[in-house]
Amino acid sequence: MDRTISGVFWLLLYSAIVMVPIALMLVPPVPAGRAFWLELGVALGFVGLTQIALQFVLIARFRRVTAPYGIDVVLHYHRQIAIVAVAAILLHPALIIIADPARLRLLNPLGGNWASRFGLLSVLALVATILMSLLRERFRLRYEYWRAAHLGLGVVAIVAAQTHVSLAGLYTNTAWKQAIWIGMAAVMVGLVVMLRVLNPILQRNRAWRVTEVREERGDTWSLSLAPVDHDGLRFAPGQFAWVKIADTPFTIEEHPFSFTSSAERSDVVVFGIKELGDFSSRMSRVAVGATAFLDGPHGAFSMDRYQAPGYVFIAGGVGITPFLSMLKTMADRGDPRPVTLIYADRSWDAVAFRDELDVLRERVRLEITYVLEDPPEGWEGEEGMVTAEVLERSLPRDGYKRMYLLCGPPPMMDAVQSALLERGVPRRHIQLERFALV
Ligand SMILES: Cc1cc2nc3c(=O)[nH]c(=O)nc-3n(C[C@H](O)[C@H](O)[C@H](O)COP(=O)(O)OP(=O)(O)OC[C@H]3O[C@@H](n4cnc5c(N)ncnc54)[C@H](O)[C@@H]3O)c2cc1C
Repeated sequence: MDRTISGVFWLLLYSAIVMVPIALMLVPPVPAGRAFWLELGVALGFVGLTQIALQFVLIARFRRVTAPYGIDVVLHYHRQIAIVAVAAILLHPALIIIADPARLRLLNPLGGNWASRFGLLSVLALVATILMSLLRERFRLRYEYWRAAHLGLGVVAIVAAQTHVSLAGLYTNTAWKQAIWIGMAAVMVGLVVMLRVLNPILQRNRAWRVTEVREERGDTWSLSLAPVDHDGLRFAPGQFAWVKIADTPFTIEEHPFSFTSSAERSDVVVFGIKELGDFSSRMSRVAVGATAFLDGPHGAFSMDRYQAPGYVFIAGGVGITPFLSMLKTMADRGDPRPVTLIYADRSWDAVAFRDELDVLRERVRLEITYVLEDPPEGWEGEEGMVTAEVLERSLPRDGYKRMYLLCGPPPMMDAVQSALLERGVPRRHIQLERFALV
């Protein structure tokens, strides 16, 4: 309930801040005798600019802001709202030109003035940011390059937009209005500095040492880290952290991974990392003794958040990692609640952590159904995909009381969620973790 209240609070605060520019426009002195379309165009520009500014708050990883929703939901919102904001910003020059076609010349950098040039620069930076995000996967742009460019273009967009507003001067014709707009841009640039400079400075005193790199089945590695001269980290089972393996926290390469260790232990944390790309495929070469830095814990996908008399965990491939942490935590806590785990993977040899799950079965009331796409000869368990029929055979009789937590490839999660809803599981009893933030 507390989370619902704070979720509503942040949403209302967000909406109120987006409306501030309209309120500011109405506070005298206001320019007189201007056409409706012109004013609407200006208002849309201000609203779009405020939304873009607030994007910096959404990515700043403030736990109080992200906790009620989960960081994946916040980043999803960040993506959707970016499109709305840029649409409002594009309407800004369009309506101004419709109201007064002579202003078309402002679109020409040579024919316009400095205010229009900075406006143009800001719009171009924003459009480039959106296009790069939409097309990143198609053009296989490396994640780290995309992220550096995304942040850089975002800063260019906000600083250029602010300069445009100050130079245009129409609705910033008093010192206090100027101060509000300049202050807003300064705070947003400050957030980037906080995330990329201050956070790493703080992380310097909270280094971690690699204590073990263990090969698991299915091209997966367990990476264990111990705190160096600090008291470690408390997290809720199912949460994740951004991991950097480097001698300095200022490296731009960091990747999110779910903890697989018990939340009851803070002296060591473990991550289960599947070889999927350049960073994760380097695991075999990570040396014991190497230095690492963590930014976390983050995320709302935890059984501690969704209390229930029992759970159904549905995992696909490396999506098992958050559940491993939940099960180990339950074992350490002596939690007597029943858990049904449906774990889908390509083949029996690819099922990472199945030995650990066998051990956990003795400490937790755990039923496991493995679903293999390509089962070995003589396999008597489930095969194929996690379908409605597999669910029918595997789900417990008291399933209607339980909480369903899903983590796996997006098509699997979509299919399983639909099947669960069709079975009459209430939507609020189903929670999903997506391993893709961008
Ligand atoms: C909340 C969350 C929890 C995750 N937990 C696990 C886990 O427990 N085990 C596991 O093996 N994987 C997990 N992942 C996925 C893991 O972060 C990516 O597989 C990893 O970052 C890939 O990096 P790469 O350089 O090896 O591959 P690349 O080839 O560089 O990337 C493959 C894809 O992974 C995504 N990705 C890459 N870098 C990042 C990044 N820094 N942040 C977000 N996405 C990125 C991109 O969509 C990219 O296209 C999790 C992801 C998220 C969002």
